[in-house]
Amino acid sequence: MGKIHVLKQDTVDQIAAGEVIERPASIVKELVENSIDAEATQITVEIREGGLSLIRVTDNGGGIAFDDVPLAFLRHATSKINDAADLCALTSLGFRGEALSSIAAVSQTELITRTASEELGCRYRIEGGREILNERTGAPAGTSFYVRNLFYNTPARKKFLKTPMTEAGHVQEILTRLALSHSEISFTFLNNEHEKLHTPGSGNLEETVYEIYGRETLHHLIPVAVSSPAIKLTGLIGDPQLARSSRCNENYFMNGRYFISPVISKAIEEAFQPYLMQHKYPFTVLHFTIDPDQIDVNVHPGKTEIRFGSQQSVFVFARDAVRSTLADEEMIPGAAPPAASADAPSAKIPESSCTPVISDRKPKYDPDTSRIHYKKSDVPSEPEKAKEFFLNEMRRRVTMSHEQDRKEIKHATPVAEEKPERIFSETSRLSYRLIGQLFRTYWLVEFEDKLLLIDQHAAHEKVLFEQIKKRYAKEEIPVQMTAPPVILRLTINEQQILVKYKDVFTRMGFEIEPFGGDDFAVRGVPGELPSIASQDILMELFDELEATDDADTFVQSLQDKLASVSCKAAVKGHQSISAAEMEALLDQLLLLENPYFCPHGRPVMVAVTQAEIEKKFKRIV
Ligand code: ADP
Ligand code: MG
Repeated sequence: MGKIHVLKQDTVDQIAAGEVIERPASIVKELVENSIDAEATQITVEIREGGLSLIRVTDNGGGIAFDDVPLAFLRHATSKINDAADLCALTSLGFRGEALSSIAAVSQTELITRTASEELGCRYRIEGGREILNERTGAPAGTSFYVRNLFYNTPARKKFLKTPMTEAGHVQEILTRLALSHSEISFTFLNNEHEKLHTPGSGNLEETVYEIYGRETLHHLIPVAVSSPAIKLTGLIGDPQLARSSRCNENYFMNGRYFISPVISKAIEEAFQPYLMQHKYPFTVLHFTIDPDQIDVNVHPGKTEIRFGSQQSVFVFARDAVRSTLADEEMIPGAAPPAASADAPSAKIPESSCTPVISDRKPKYDPDTSRIHYKKSDVPSEPEKAKEFFLNEMRRRVTMSHEQDRKEIKHATPVAEEKPERIFSETSRLSYRLIGQLFRTYWLVEFEDKLLLIDQHAAHEKVLFEQIKKRYAKEEIPVQMTAPPVILRLTINEQQILVKYKDVFTRMGFEIEPFGGDDFAVRGVPGELPSIASQDILMELFDELEATDDADTFVQSLQDKLASVSCKAAVKGHQSISAAEMEALLDQLLLLENPYFCPHGRPVMVAVTQAEIEKKFKRIV
């Protein structure tokens, strides 16, 4: 007898479930995506014990017809596509028809659902892939899934789960993204019966961001709205003060779907590069809209990866869109964080923390362990009761000031013509008053109702940097010969890059010639950059060019290297310079497009307003 046999359906489902269902958060993602596809406007997610004992997802969407219910749990059963051709015009989040069968294979699942047109709904139970119950029942229109005892029949997978707190943290993270991806849907999240998240579903992205990241974040948001014939980009980016040390607050959505893409991250980070310190990453909630036939989302079962028809054009579009948005903003960080208004506990922005701030409902995030900590006990002790009272009072006040913020949001819709005059412009220059030097490093300048503190080193560095950059732009770049030449061994791809960008290399001051076989000799490098004549740095440039395939990026990385040159040449802190020298520096600064940040992304100046000073002296409250 032969050895080959076809696996039983249960086994097939369990194996497949391994791909789709890694942890409770994956179930939440799949079920909520189904609710979104069913056009729900309200979605409630509840979990207990990190989702191990219960995951409930309730929506007010279209529901599933009685006769369709058993079909929905079959592998590859979907109402969303008919054939492969439909994949090209995909507008739904689901389409593979494997979530419900996978969830049912590894848990005890109950479904209660009713469509608007049916009088009675359906109660259906399925455990480990086996139907247990299928009956008619009265139910509200919409769908509720109850997923109990996850991985009860696959103990090996259960072992890989982390603590309930960690799993709850993953669920919250996924829900955060889903809420940001659909601000027109109201999301509620309950963990062990405590509300952790509630978004209004008003369609206003700022309001959703407010609920997730807290009040303070609102003051640092810049709206983005740019379109080309092929792509539309809308959403919000954070000013440099919202930057973090990891990419955790970079949120990208494609046609309503959260996705992760190194290409997009690189594009956006490049646009932010002049404003951010190294190893800082921006805050973004950006929605891309692209014709579905220009992308492929069927790359991975989780569907968080996307392939683009033209990677290069998406890269350039995204970078330039954010670049131009940032260029239109005036970004002088306040010297002190905006004073928290006395009557509201303003949510702090925890440095390098990624967990959204949800007023006091927020679980504590420990950046060292990357864990989220919830309150130990649900039974309040006496001091906790007092705290609870205090917090409730605060919450009431936050809600009040929240109302005010909403008004602010509507009010603050940007109108290009309403932009205030730039602080640094030739007309405003006349009204500066240079007061003097502080700590032999900072220059004090009075301008209208502001006191500017200008870092002399950063200012000088920026001016030098721009001068060198201008020479580069004008292609007045002297070549500096390197003897002996630097020999590079290039792969086929790298050689293609060299051929393709030959002109750019030459323009930027490189002299490169074949040296036999796959070897190439770099005989000349840009004059200001002798340190670039090293194999490592040159190969880095090739790597970058290969990754982005974009001449601008190449020029940009050369400029990064220039930044360090200008840094060395600039006047240092703790060095006395004369008022006349400072005046001259100011004159040069104001000619720059972006005088606010030095080439490393540190602020050149900070501002303190008269109101802030008067508050300190209690002249105003
Ligand atoms: P997919 O989403 O890829 O189609 P699923 O296994 O997730 O596959 O769901 C199977 C089908 O069940 C869906 O195509 C849809 O018709 C139906 N369905 C699942 N969840 C819901 C829901 N919350 N509301 C309405 N219909 C649903
Ligand atoms: Mg689905």
